[in-house]
Amino acid sequence: MADKKLVEQITSREEDFAQWYTDVVKKAELTDYSSVKGFMVIRPAGYAIWENIMAALDSRFKATGVQNCSMPLLIPQSLLEKESEHVEGFAPEVAWVTSGGSKRLEERLCVRPTSEVLFCDYYSKVVKSYRDLPQLLNQWCSVVRWEKTTRPFLRTREFLWQEGHTVHATAEEAEERTLLMLDIYADVLENELAIPVVKGRKTDKEKFAGAIATYTVEALMHDGQALQCATSHNFGDGFAKAFQVQYLSKNNTVEPVHQTSWGITTRTIGALIMVHGDDSGLVLPPRIAPVQVNIIPIQQNKEGVLDKAFDLMNTLMDAGLRVKVDDSDKTPGFKFADSEVRGIPLRLEIGPKDIEAGQVVLVRRDTREKIVVSFENLVEESKKLLEQIQKDMYNRALTFQKERTTDAKSLDELVASLDKKPGFVRAMWCGCRECEEKLKEYSGITSRCIPAKQEKIADTCVVCGKPATKMVYWGRAY
Ligand code: AMP
Ligand code: ZN
Repeated sequence: MADKKLVEQITSREEDFAQWYTDVVKKAELTDYSSVKGFMVIRPAGYAIWENIMAALDSRFKATGVQNCSMPLLIPQSLLEKESEHVEGFAPEVAWVTSGGSKRLEERLCVRPTSEVLFCDYYSKVVKSYRDLPQLLNQWCSVVRWEKTTRPFLRTREFLWQEGHTVHATAEEAEERTLLMLDIYADVLENELAIPVVKGRKTDKEKFAGAIATYTVEALMHDGQALQCATSHNFGDGFAKAFQVQYLSKNNTVEPVHQTSWGITTRTIGALIMVHGDDSGLVLPPRIAPVQVNIIPIQQNKEGVLDKAFDLMNTLMDAGLRVKVDDSDKTPGFKFADSEVRGIPLRLEIGPKDIEAGQVVLVRRDTREKIVVSFENLVEESKKLLEQIQKDMYNRALTFQKERTTDAKSLDELVASLDKKPGFVRAMWCGCRECEEKLKEYSGITSRCIPAKQEKIADTCVVCGKPATKMVYWGRAY
């Protein structure tokens, strides 16, 4: 097919991965730059993906008793400063509002970088007795962190996310909730976004400011770099004590609550692009794709072709699929390329000859395989193919992750492995921060997580040679 112009503007993935990413984001019309540096416009094609991610998460949250709410955009400085570790962690990334209209404010207000303190303030008022626990709240909103370097979706100064904040009567319950939400993130990433993840705990160096434990789901991008896809934090009772979120127990004693928070952002769209995309553009897993079947009429000016195209669209939509007809005045070749750039899982070709033969041609985006299907079998076949694509995409990503995960027993082995074949390296660690810092300074390698399922690869720490306490996933990360 003639029209290759559209795809030619995408840099090859192997040639320059960063440029390829930028090209795909642009050609798939996911975002646009805005007039404020580091802030992005999410265009309809990008936002529709986010809507599907939100829906997948929101229903799962609610199934565990979580309710949505909305907290203010701004935080008074005095409130932010109540928990010292938290404020220290976020201070370098905070944006401030200093006047309202022409009047200077008496107290500066920060644009929320995250809303722990707002939820604490609220919970300190509504939680009185054990009967008020647990509180399981979430909000869908945007936050602002003044990042130094930014990239669409992966790291922006404003990002869309959900932040869940819960308070519990016991430490056990808080830990259980922290891990439950981590499991939900892993479930959505693996089963909806077709992105295999490694689950585990962050080291003290990498954990969230003010948390006693941070858990993460880490994924491997196609260039072998890791991406932290979501985090779930257990705060213990530190915030509760700073904000006096306390309750009267059954035994009539006043106790601090135990708190969690958990968040996932528009960064996941970046993960979708970098795990599944190819040199022709985006490849979207069917469960998340805003359009699952793109119907492209061939010789659409011939009588009956467009009618049949819309007919088939209605049939597929009635069966619950997300479908569109591209009846623009572009050539079929252009439409094919456009459908590929946007990552639509199935393309359906229908022309006069097909109508005569009572069939259509379906083309898979992920493998480009062509399948001829009769009108009668179209619904069933389309559904089957979409399921197959979803499965195959996950399995391909999993195979890649497995191929790119190696074990190392020494520092040389660890660095050489990541230089030669970027990915995850599993290696032992003594547990001290200095070893992590040394590795980061020396080669840009960071600890990604400490998985719950531990294996003993060696007896000693890869960095210092002292007795090891933990097996860690290491890598270079976004
Ligand atoms: P945190 O509240 O720091 O635990 O952040 C929650 C999640 O947000 C992290 O696990 C990242 O995946 C993601 N994230 C952090 N910073 C950014 C950013 N600047 N842009 C997009 N996503 C982010
Ligand atoms: Zn060590």
